[in-house]
Amino acid sequence: MAKAKKGPRQIVGLKCKACGNFGYLTEFNKNNEQLKKQTTGETTFPLKKYCAVCRKHTVHVQAKKLK
Ligand SMILES: [Zn+2]
Repeated sequence: MAKAKKGPRQIVGLKCKACGNFGYLTEFNKNNEQLKKQTTGETTFPLKKYCAVCRKHTVHVQAKKLK
């Protein structure tokens, strides 16, 4: 049985790994994430996104979990 705390959908911040600029807010489903990891071995994060500071696509990592 799954632990129902805050629900599977989590809001996270994404920040540029290169310069640390906090660029994006995104939402992802924790359950889907686990399923994806089991089936394909891939994860959603880190993501490649455009960074306005670096002015190019960089690797973005989860900054922290937001409520
Ligand atoms: Zn950057």
